[in-house]
Amino acid sequence: MDYQKLAERLLPGEYPQLESFEAKYPPRALAKGAEVTRLAPSPTGFIHLGNLFVALANERIAHQSGGVLYLRIEDTDLKRKVDGAVEAVKNALRYFDIKFDEGAEIGGNDTYAPWYQRERAEIYRAFVKDLIARGRAYPCFCTEDDLSALRERQTSQKKITGYYGEYAKCRNLSEEEIYAKLDAGEPFVIRLKSLGDPENKLKFHDSIKGEITVTENDQDVVILKSDGIPTYHFAHAIDDHFMRTTLVIRGEEWLASLPIHIELFEALGFARPRYGHNCSLMKQDGETRRKLSKRKDPELSLEFYRQEGYYARAVKIYMLTLLNSNFEEWYLKNPDAPLEDFQFSVSKMGKSGALFDLDKLNDISKNELAKLSAEEMLSFMETWAGEFGSEAQKEYFRDRNYLTAVLELCMGTAGKKRRKDFTTAKQATETVAYFFTRVPRGDDYRVDFITRKEILRRFLERYDFHDDAQAWFAKVKETAGELGFASEMKEYKQNPEAYRGNVADVAEVLRIATTGKANTPDLYTIQQILGEEETRARLRAAAEKE
Ligand code: GLU
Repeated sequence: MDYQKLAERLLPGEYPQLESFEAKYPPRALAKGAEVTRLAPSPTGFIHLGNLFVALANERIAHQSGGVLYLRIEDTDLKRKVDGAVEAVKNALRYFDIKFDEGAEIGGNDTYAPWYQRERAEIYRAFVKDLIARGRAYPCFCTEDDLSALRERQTSQKKITGYYGEYAKCRNLSEEEIYAKLDAGEPFVIRLKSLGDPENKLKFHDSIKGEITVTENDQDVVILKSDGIPTYHFAHAIDDHFMRTTLVIRGEEWLASLPIHIELFEALGFARPRYGHNCSLMKQDGETRRKLSKRKDPELSLEFYRQEGYYARAVKIYMLTLLNSNFEEWYLKNPDAPLEDFQFSVSKMGKSGALFDLDKLNDISKNELAKLSAEEMLSFMETWAGEFGSEAQKEYFRDRNYLTAVLELCMGTAGKKRRKDFTTAKQATETVAYFFTRVPRGDDYRVDFITRKEILRRFLERYDFHDDAQAWFAKVKETAGELGFASEMKEYKQNPEAYRGNVADVAEVLRIATTGKANTPDLYTIQQILGEEETRARLRAAAEKE
């Protein structure tokens, strides 16, 4: 068969010489050991925790080695493309402070652009044309129906499904048959002519998993679709070569495609980058562990963390804990150090599924937020509220002195042992709501309705906004004593039967009347922050409740 002629017929016209691409995208002038890594998301609009997991590893590896991290957009599949998806990717990763050096809409060095695969069609086609001309690729005219019939046949015969060996019908078409179909205008795709044999097992060094065995590929995979756009497999090989990637860290779901990639690199005559397949994020679901699922687990989406107002450093700390087995120990020793100070190593990455547990993340978040000053907490909450807060919540930020006082109370004094009440910006904003609005409360008090009203009435008679904390508490005790509650805990414990309850029950009534909550920081200070008028109004409203 005249492959040259076939190549010209299938991809007519002049294409640049292949060597010209080597010159156009030369090896990068980087120091020895510098790694070039990438994040290569498809613009589907859904950017998930797995992407962040891999992004963080790639970022650390690149920047720690003095290398480059770039962003490539794998938009070969038009059906899955969503408008605004690239913005969404960038927003999501910006939130976590993943810094790209180059790539789609990044600016910086554009030597290796274009960064969108759809804009690289000419490069891919030039190489496909060359493969055809060398007899390593061929046109396939099978329709969707042909392929599903084939799949059914293979399934019923308990054979591996796919287009390979004896099943690769179009591989053996004669020259006449091919030209007859082309003349008849039949649509076609281009497939790789695989030379592999699944009987052959290859040893492969995976940068994360170590020595693994890979079965040689024998699938004649599609490399160019009928619309002239390549498949992921093919585009990836071309791009990682010409963008001069040195290390591909990607999710282990791609391990199954590795044999195809190995053969593609061989067929193209390119040296392969190293690969590391990162373990999947798992979730404990009852007795079983399963992969995080888009449908069942909102925490899989990175949007979730922004909407909830997770503190980016906390999420990164948790991700690093899962990524590197020695990170936790380092973090315990260096709780306040910048995360970049940790020496990340590919060899310490987990080989099998990492268990993701939102409760653990929440614990880390509480710890990290407790390190912020009230001013830092305020600006963190404000950024969140600006984007996701309700109109009422946005109002909280009008009087910054007031909110600062609230946060100082809720967090405790910096340098001392802090309260750990805040998990996220959203939860913190909701927690402080009672300083801005009267929060209604149901009837789950320890003290009955009539007594509650009596407590409130008597306390109000004594209440003086100018009392100090001690004088204030003395009045709480007096009110308690008057109504048959023990005013000293010690006395109550010695003889509980002698009392209706104790001073803590009385304080609870005052607390709930003031805040709508049974658990809050120091009530005296809360009332001081709320001010005399508002405190009296709240106590009175509760006392007069019908
Ligand atoms: N476009 C692929 C994805 O979104 C990238 C896989 C890779 O990193 O090679 O999963």
